[in-house]
Amino acid sequence: MTTLADPVPGGRPGEVERATALSGELSGRGVHGIVLAYVDTAGIGRVKAIPTAKLPSAVAWGVGMSPVFDTFLADDSIVTTDALGSPDGDLRLYPDLGGLVVLSGQPGWAWAPVDRIAQEGDPHPGCSRTFLRHLVTDSARRGIAFRASIEIEWTVGQGPSAAGELLPATTGPAYGATRQVELSDCAADLLAALAEQGVDVDQLHPEYAAGQFEVSVGALDPVAAADRSVLVRQTIRAVARRHGLVVSFAPAVVAEGVGNGGHLHLSAWRDGVNLHAGGDRRHGMTAEAESFTAGVLTRLPALTAVTAPSPASYLRLKPSRWAGAFTAWGRETREAGVRVITGTTGLQDRSANIEIKPVDLAANPYLALGCVIAAGLDGMAMSTPLPQETTGNPELLDTGQARARDVRRLPTSLGEAVAEFRADEVLRTALGPVLTDAVIAVREGEIAAVDGLDDAGIAAAYRWRY
Ligand code: GLU
Ligand code: MG
Repeated sequence: MTTLADPVPGGRPGEVERATALSGELSGRGVHGIVLAYVDTAGIGRVKAIPTAKLPSAVAWGVGMSPVFDTFLADDSIVTTDALGSPDGDLRLYPDLGGLVVLSGQPGWAWAPVDRIAQEGDPHPGCSRTFLRHLVTDSARRGIAFRASIEIEWTVGQGPSAAGELLPATTGPAYGATRQVELSDCAADLLAALAEQGVDVDQLHPEYAAGQFEVSVGALDPVAAADRSVLVRQTIRAVARRHGLVVSFAPAVVAEGVGNGGHLHLSAWRDGVNLHAGGDRRHGMTAEAESFTAGVLTRLPALTAVTAPSPASYLRLKPSRWAGAFTAWGRETREAGVRVITGTTGLQDRSANIEIKPVDLAANPYLALGCVIAAGLDGMAMSTPLPQETTGNPELLDTGQARARDVRRLPTSLGEAVAEFRADEVLRTALGPVLTDAVIAVREGEIAAVDGLDDAGIAAAYRWRY
């Protein structure tokens, strides 16, 4: 399937003219180069960059890059699948002008997300952004749209020590005023940069773990929400560097304690109406919202192979850390894998959504959103019943209570997650064989890469990779 949004050799109608005007305007604003950004299967952001004057040519013909990055691991070693990982071949990266932003945190630069197509013009089956866009476009044809946002938690360090350890840049208590004061200038610059880049920030606050902060942003359509997650992280990193600080989005910067999450907020809409509000089911959900939620919930164990894709993800995904380590749902239950959010009285129609918690920022946001949406849509198509609600800590349920609610502990290792994913026909079908094989090969590569390491060794191996 191709859609009108897919790039084509020569450029889509009118785009080259638009890029020509834009490159002149950008040059006039002092922008020298454009970062072309995508995320690989391992969750690492990878880029090429072009001089601003080359934008029209990139929009017409793309920029070359090897498909081998689809099977890169977080440590830059390479695994292979039947279709991917060979040194042969070339792909064209096409910037999406709709997502192009002048980077306030990196003077002289603009940034744009890319789609990747083959030299012959077909969409690249390993392109995660294309995968998500096609899924969302297909769903829109059937009358269902989505709004999504991805929370970002990160740890700020003074700069890695000689041994690569974290030296937290703040000392104050969790959620504490002290931390806000300590990073006052950096945080203010970050808010300014995000505002200049058109990112509507909801909140910025000190989080629980040492040196940890969080930003939450407004909901957009899923592709734009995934783009924004990449852009916001690029901005956080750039602004921190200008203040002499380093950041890590790793799921577990240290082996013990609370990690960095990337909770995913999602709502399904029909004809402009939020299906998660105003319905006659639990907490105002419609029947479709309940079965969408049930679809996500039942597939959470397999989804973790995509949403918690690093060996370090399982240092974070533990009970009593608000990471959502169980296949449980509950209204405003922060230990459940799926937290149902109704919104404040007066705002429900706009803000009711589900929050999927076993997601971290090692996840490729396009794959994570696409797989979660595919799971929800399957729930809707099958009218999957939503089990009984869980309130409180799911860990405290006795066996009978847990069975009655279908509450299970999520995978405790990446190996368990991959086994669940391998058996999940719905996710495999949604991804297609090339992406499915890439996910499995990359996860197995990560597992092999940490063979013999203890928890501290795993945290150290990924601490500065994400
Ligand atoms: N840091 C927690 C996590 O790993 C989330 C805390 C919160 O709910 O904001 O997901
Ligand atoms: Mg948080």
